[in-house]
Amino acid sequence: MKIYPVFIPHAGCPHRCLFCAQDRSTNHADVPSAETVGRWLETVLPELGAGEVAFYGGTFTSLPEEQQALYLDTATSHISSGRVSGIRISTRPDALDTRTLARLRDAGVTTVEIGCQSFDNAVLAASGRGHTALDNLSSVQACLSAGFRVGVQLMPGLPGGDGEEAMRSLQRAIDLKPSFLRIYPTVVVEGTELAELWRAGDFTPWSLDQAIDLCADMLLLCRKYAVPIIRLGLQSDPQLEENLLDGPYHPAFGQLVRSRLWRRALSHAGRYGNNFTVHPSDMSDALGHRGENREWLKQADPHIIISADQSVARESLRASGVALQLFDLNVQGGH
Ligand code: SF4
Repeated sequence: MKIYPVFIPHAGCPHRCLFCAQDRSTNHADVPSAETVGRWLETVLPELGAGEVAFYGGTFTSLPEEQQALYLDTATSHISSGRVSGIRISTRPDALDTRTLARLRDAGVTTVEIGCQSFDNAVLAASGRGHTALDNLSSVQACLSAGFRVGVQLMPGLPGGDGEEAMRSLQRAIDLKPSFLRIYPTVVVEGTELAELWRAGDFTPWSLDQAIDLCADMLLLCRKYAVPIIRLGLQSDPQLEENLLDGPYHPAFGQLVRSRLWRRALSHAGRYGNNFTVHPSDMSDALGHRGENREWLKQADPHIIISADQSVARESLRASGVALQLFDLNVQGGH
């Protein structure tokens, strides 16, 4: 779905969470007025379209109601004229009550993204979130019951969290049957409290390789339950790169994760020979970012061949005439 993003950095946030510096992670340092948003929408929206205007980067439902109404009005008028099909807001789990949901629905909001981050109360407390796992649960359920599409945001690798916690949190999120997930491994950004902990040696983020491995497991679990992940890793942004101090950031993080699943699958498919064919659209993920998978696999078998053929189904590979599924190979093969 086409998204028209409006960034309102930290607007409505009751406090700064330990890890968050929206104004340094994107090139949007200022909160735009509703008039500015309205003028921008006039220039970017198509005459007819099915996208959503999305308010990101703050706690939309904690803004004063008049301010929410002004923002929503800029987009609602474009729903009736068919230029967009709905509105998306992002908010905190403890900023959604029944009255707010009714108001959002009446204003044309179709999707609510909820920053749950973790379902472990110790991790939420250590990260200065100010809400509990129960708030996550009740807000997601309330939004789903009210008929919204619901996106759950998770941040593996927060203080006090490890790989097992990340997988447990993911399972609890999946159990709620959200419409989609976003997964952002924790990074250290200048200007945050986390940066001070990192400087004092009290926090070490995951390495890029650890995060890729863990997110490959997370992707696998989501595929098992057919819950889409619409974003893996932070959006590439020069402002973020300038302020990034440490942690598993990579502009092609999503591809690195998908490629890790291909690497595991291809190494487990060795019993079927060393000549593999994949769909052309999967070739880049199978070979890996800058051919890393091919080089890695060649260490075990210098004669390995990976080629492309339109007749192979997506996310599968053919070896010795046998069709093998990417996800089956990962599940059966272990790693
Ligand atoms: S994580 Fe969300 S609630 Fe916390 S400061 Fe950032 S935008 Fe605000």
